[in-house]
Amino acid sequence: MNLYRRLLATGSLAALVSFGAIANSAQAQDYPTRTITMIVPFAAGGPTDVISRIVTAHMAQTLGHSIIIENVVGAAGTTATARAARAANDGYTLITGHMGTHAASLPLYPKLAYHPEKDFEPIALLAGTPILILARKDFPPKDLKEFIAYVKANTEKVNAAHAGVGSVSHVSCELLNSLLDIKPIGVPFNGTGPAMNALVGGQVDYMCDQIVNAVPQINGGTIKAYAIATPERNPSLPNLPTTAEAGLPAFQAQAWNAIFAPKGTPGPVIAKLNAAAAKALDDEGVRKRLLDLGSVIPKPAERTPEALAALVKSEIAKWSPVLKPASN
Ligand code: ASP
Repeated sequence: MNLYRRLLATGSLAALVSFGAIANSAQAQDYPTRTITMIVPFAAGGPTDVISRIVTAHMAQTLGHSIIIENVVGAAGTTATARAARAANDGYTLITGHMGTHAASLPLYPKLAYHPEKDFEPIALLAGTPILILARKDFPPKDLKEFIAYVKANTEKVNAAHAGVGSVSHVSCELLNSLLDIKPIGVPFNGTGPAMNALVGGQVDYMCDQIVNAVPQINGGTIKAYAIATPERNPSLPNLPTTAEAGLPAFQAQAWNAIFAPKGTPGPVIAKLNAAAAKALDDEGVRKRLLDLGSVIPKPAERTPEALAALVKSEIAKWSPVLKPASN
């Protein structure tokens, strides 16, 4: 008789299983008892990293334990996301995913090693991040109309930085490039943190990036911004026109960043993390830092795990028909 049958025959297996369940739920009630790791799937200093650091610093105070950010780069965040999907589902490994890792990558990577819905428990949306059209400081066009004419006339020569195929910066500039019917040379980085450094350094021509990465550079005069791809202007950059005002109303793009846990993470753990994230988003200091960088803070009804699950579903449905498997 093998061990399984023997345990079954003596009733010990049932006892073991129920003991395990009690132990798990006791662990979930005590959670957390040690440091939590938050995987950020892009380089330090970029938008996902900055948002994660602002919110998790406050969450750690609520939870009474540190949250360490681990930047795991590669393949537009999909390497890190696959790793998070396979991590222990005990609440001690989490990931900040976004519109790319948890929606756009699905149609782009036919062999994606995770499924954004099936392999994760949604925890909380952290921030909406409008997309801006940016260029190096000495890029010749002065406004969006000139930009459009210039990139169309120089499509063989211009290049666009992005954070890998399937990242927000890649997908949103693909949308822009297809509207303009141009094919610039793509220059991939491990995140738009390093891509922004290249833009500031004048090594690349333009980029479509999330607002939080751009506000300090625009205000510091180190890069050019042509437009924000949302219906309204953003209070952090009141002088920056919308794409509609600047002459390209069809280009609308806004991303988001949110916390996820591996599938099967216990409900009480998810509830504690969600409550800590919601509390952080209500904190005046956290709000100010996020708003100063142009983020859109989710309203209470948008902060629940159910709302995040619905967002992921709708974003997959939105991007799947428009994005084809990447050839590069
Ligand atoms: N969110 C990424 C980052 O933090 C960049 C991207 O998706 O474009 O670098």
